Amino acid sequence: MSDWISLAAGQSYPPGTLYVVATPIGNVADLSLRALHVLGLADAIACEDTRNTGQLLSRVGLQRPLVAVHEHNEREAARRIVTRLAAGERIAYVSDAGTPGISDPGARLVEAVRAAGLAVVPLPGPSAAVAALSVAGEMLDAGEGRFTFIGFLPNKPKARTEAIAALAGLDHAWVLYEAPHRIADTLAALAAGLPAARRLLVGRELTKLFEETPVMTVAEGPAWLAAEPTRAKGEFVLVVEGAGKAVADADAPDAEAQRVLSLLLAELPAKRAAKLAAAITGAGTDALYRLALAQRADD
Ligand code: SAM
Repeated sequence: MSDWISLAAGQSYPPGTLYVVATPIGNVADLSLRALHVLGLADAIACEDTRNTGQLLSRVGLQRPLVAVHEHNEREAARRIVTRLAAGERIAYVSDAGTPGISDPGARLVEAVRAAGLAVVPLPGPSAAVAALSVAGEMLDAGEGRFTFIGFLPNKPKARTEAIAALAGLDHAWVLYEAPHRIADTLAALAAGLPAARRLLVGRELTKLFEETPVMTVAEGPAWLAAEPTRAKGEFVLVVEGAGKAVADADAPDAEAQRVLSLLLAELPAKRAAKLAAAITGAGTDALYRLALAQRADD
């Protein structure tokens, strides 16, 4: 074990530097060796919530002075941190979970430190978006590996619907964060606003005890959530397939085409069922085939 720690300690960590440190999104063992080393080395740790970060530190056996830097005091706290850095201290910055600055505070602090001509060093690590994307498989291929990070959709239903309509035409995958109390509304809005066959990866409770990463169509999202009453209680990151690989909107199977497909699927292989359903209803064969495969996978 000590050899591992010395790997992290072997690098130089100059004084007068702000270290922006990613922390676990659930499993404390995801804290990197470098993160552990730098948190131990720092003269102070600036954080979103001192209780939260205090708990993390006590779990890994560290004790360091904590400085609260949150949405409401970020500018003022940043000024104080710049003064300390200018005096040669090493300060680490962590958010509550994951990578600072990614749907989290940190940007103003980083700007202030840079503006003062001082160094900022990132210590990479967990981020819910990247974790979900890493298991999105071919959903990323439509955009040749490209994706768009959205973070949280707007709260208000109208603005959320408009945002989804604006994203629907992206040819590559997009990534959303969602809170437990809004996940049902968001899954319903995605089902209503996107072609039924568009694929969706739900990253729930990543790295935690009840972690799951099912892939479904957007049409299936609301029923998936409702099927298990405790499901809505988790933390969620969603990867939505881009339009490139899904069928064009005009081609999406409507409710009648989906009904016909389900009936045929009970008797026939997926490809044959999709072909026949397309001939009967006029919906696109590719879209029906994708839907058929998704239904088969569920069965
Ligand atoms: N900075 C963090 C990151 O790098 O992932 C994100 C912070 S944002 C305030 C919190 C949101 O991230 C949650 O509402 C949820 O959407 C997502 N998230 C955080 N931890 C997660 C986890 N373990 N599983 C799934 N989603 C998670």
